[in-house]
Amino acid sequence: MNYIEKNKEYIELAKSRIKQLYNEKPKLFIETAGCQQNEADSEKLTGMALDLGYILTDEKEDADLILINTCAVREHAELKALSHAGRLKHLKEIKPSLIIGICGCMVQQEHRKEDIKHKYPYVDFLFGTNMIFDFPRLLYKVLTEKKRHFFVESYEENHGEMVEDVPVFRKSTKTAWVSVMYGCNNFCTYCVVPYVRGRERSREMTCILSEVKGLIEDGCRDITLLGQNVNSYGKDLENSPTFVDLLREIDKIDGDFVIRFMTSHPKDATKELVDFIAESKHMAPHFHLPVQSGSNRILKAMNRHYTREAYLELCGYIKKVHPDISLTTDIIVGFPGETEEDFQETLSVLEEVRFDSVFSFNYSLRKGTKAASMDCQIDEETKKERMGRLLTLQQRISAENNAKLVGRTVSVTVEGDSKADPNVWAGRTEQGKIIHFPKNGIPLEGGQHVFVEIERAESYTIYGKLK
Ligand code: SAH
Ligand code: SF4
Repeated sequence: MNYIEKNKEYIELAKSRIKQLYNEKPKLFIETAGCQQNEADSEKLTGMALDLGYILTDEKEDADLILINTCAVREHAELKALSHAGRLKHLKEIKPSLIIGICGCMVQQEHRKEDIKHKYPYVDFLFGTNMIFDFPRLLYKVLTEKKRHFFVESYEENHGEMVEDVPVFRKSTKTAWVSVMYGCNNFCTYCVVPYVRGRERSREMTCILSEVKGLIEDGCRDITLLGQNVNSYGKDLENSPTFVDLLREIDKIDGDFVIRFMTSHPKDATKELVDFIAESKHMAPHFHLPVQSGSNRILKAMNRHYTREAYLELCGYIKKVHPDISLTTDIIVGFPGETEEDFQETLSVLEEVRFDSVFSFNYSLRKGTKAASMDCQIDEETKKERMGRLLTLQQRISAENNAKLVGRTVSVTVEGDSKADPNVWAGRTEQGKIIHFPKNGIPLEGGQHVFVEIERAESYTIYGKLK
């Protein structure tokens, strides 16, 4: 459905209510936690709010509307969001007209909704991940009815309609996230995502293509296609186009741009996809393939549907087809029942594959998931100790991989000033690696495409000079 069609009545109502309430344009402050999908949702929420009459502010203290878009994947992210919400209490006391909303994955869970309802009385409204496209209606209700609103419905009640042509506010004109599908059907036993994001829904290929074409025409250089398991793309559409079919169409578009995707589940990643990356014009030489554990026993308990051997074979194939590709992964340390032997198997996968980087997480118990009720939960001390060993190993491997790049000239997209030194640019290579190079008075801007010769390498950063 189209955004304007869906929200016809409420867009106009909300706009006139905003004009009536505020003498000048009200200010929106939005804070986003979690994954790229959440970032993409916040860009849509901001786009809709600007269309309704808000302007953006970077200062919470100036805001008339504060939105916190939350993540539920690990407890740490939830506690952080709640602590941010806690700090808004005094702002509301100083400025009672301030409206505070919390949205995203965390509030999609009944127990968190109840928590906020009872312990955070100054939060005015909540809305779940399946209500994002209803934002004009929700906001109108908040601005007109003097009560708190809890717009949270389970995915059984509201399957999360997909809406096209939504106004999007992108921070950068050079890089963009494009969702190709929503939700997840995999139910890995540790993961809350299928509960808070519902079942898989793919966007029509024509809609994705027209969004991508528009971005490229506007000068965008680096586009990341998003989905919890992009390899499932299209299964629910008429004629069942595959993810590779979609990539093929995108690759035909003319222009100077690269395409990335996140995330690919190893159980469904095909050799056809790997081959396509090699033959394409625009696919970035980067493959993020979360393995989670190197132990078959743990992979089975995680419900991942692949073995260590199948995973290693796939990585071998990827490296054979693309010797220069950057391979990255996600690991969970301390899944229930993980023994020292299981953990050693994870370390040996790191040694065998030699990933360029690893995103590692201590297992976090998520209410309602299967793993939450498994025996033998691992204590925090053991997780911490194992994580330390994993990080040390990976740091060495990343440094060794990066050292091999010294002397090469690579294509880089400028991101901005290096945080450590304003006289140095920070950029990203097509492989997704962070690179720093001195400005030497050369005027560049974020998103610009340059060539850099690599002079020195560390585990997380490489250093070079402009060519
Ligand atoms: N759909 C993606 C990942 C989504 S969540 C995929 O399947 O790869 C991103 C990462 O968070 C996961 O890959 C996993 O490593 C981590 N993660 C998810 N649930 C977790 C939990 N309960 N505890 C710790 N890490 C978790
Ligand atoms: Fe979570 Fe597994 Fe779905 Fe990824 S594939 S979102 S880890 S359930």
